[in-house]
Amino acid sequence: MLSAVLNAESLLPNCYNAFSFPSIMKCPFCGHANDKVVDSRESKEADSIRRRRECLKCEKRFTTYERIDEIPYMVVKKDGRREKFDRQKVLNGLLRACEKRPVPISKLEQIVNEAEAFIIESPERERKTSEVGELIMNRLRRYDKVAYVRFASVYLDFKDVQEFMTELKDLLKTKESDPQAKAAAKPLQ
Ligand SMILES: [Zn+2]
Repeated sequence: MLSAVLNAESLLPNCYNAFSFPSIMKCPFCGHANDKVVDSRESKEADSIRRRRECLKCEKRFTTYERIDEIPYMVVKKDGRREKFDRQKVLNGLLRACEKRPVPISKLEQIVNEAEAFIIESPERERKTSEVGELIMNRLRRYDKVAYVRFASVYLDFKDVQEFMTELKDLLKTKESDPQAKAAAKPLQ
């Protein structure tokens, strides 16, 4: 089965590559929709591809720039300030919470993906940080209770502390039977 997939892939022609498949542009001089690319190069910052094209009808040359559509997705903080959603920032927070915990990095990446998808799904292209934080906490809770408690203690603000303490007490109640909860009960360094 695997070899069949590999074979099928090797049968794909090399031109199945976005870079060698530049889309057709209308000539700005005569409107003809057929051109050839005479030169392609990345911009200095590598955020766009510059293509020099030649119209196949009038033979005039023109330049197009191809860019990745970078739409910012925002998170809205409690005080109303908006901030660009930053995958790395979320991942860093998770890594800190999971320090010396047996949580594979792939799980953390998955949580970041889910948080990102949650924001992208929003028709307003933004979500409250409290909603995103809650989603992350819920996911993290499944994987590791210690990491969850650490994350929550950093993330939650004072008005949520009471609720959090209630939850923590529930965790502590089960400490005899649950080594994870027992570890969670230890003070953080
Ligand atoms: Zn033309």
